[in-house]
Amino acid sequence: MADCLFCKIAAGEIPVERIYENNDVLAFPDINPVAPVHILIIPKKHYATSIDLSEEAPELCAAMLKASTEVARFQGIDKSGFRLILNTNADGGQEIFHMHMHLLGGEYIGRLRGR
Ligand code: 5GP
Ligand code: ZN
Repeated sequence: MADCLFCKIAAGEIPVERIYENNDVLAFPDINPVAPVHILIIPKKHYATSIDLSEEAPELCAAMLKASTEVARFQGIDKSGFRLILNTNADGGQEIFHMHMHLLGGEYIGRLRGR
C-alpha cells in the first residue's frame, strides 16, 4: 500500500535489520524499544489491523505465531520467556495501521495490571 511505513520496510525501500523473514512474514527491531529485546513481526502483505488479517488471511495468523517462535529462539529468549502484544484500533493503542505484533523480552516484562 502506498505511503505505508511497514509496506516500505517489507519492500526493502526503508532499510532495517531483517532479523527473520520468510515468504509471508518479516521481523525487525522496534525503533523505540521498551525492553532489551523488542522486535516487530509483520505480514509482508498489507493488512491494516488484526481484524483484517484474521478475516482475510486466517492462515497468516498461524504464520505470524510460528514466526514469533522462530524469532524468540533466534534471540535466545524462548526459554526465559517473552510477551507478544498485538494492538488493535484506538483503544488497543495501535499507531501504525499495518498489522504487527510486538515481541518483548530479555528481562521480566511484568504483569498486566498486577494480574
Ligand atoms: P503500535 O503502537 O502501532 O502497536 O506500534 C508501532 C510501533 O512501531 C512502535 O513501537 C514504534 O516504536 C514502532 N515504529 C514506528 N516507526 C518505526 C520505524 O520507522 N521503524 C521501526 N523499526 N519501528 C517503528
Ligand atoms: Zn502496509
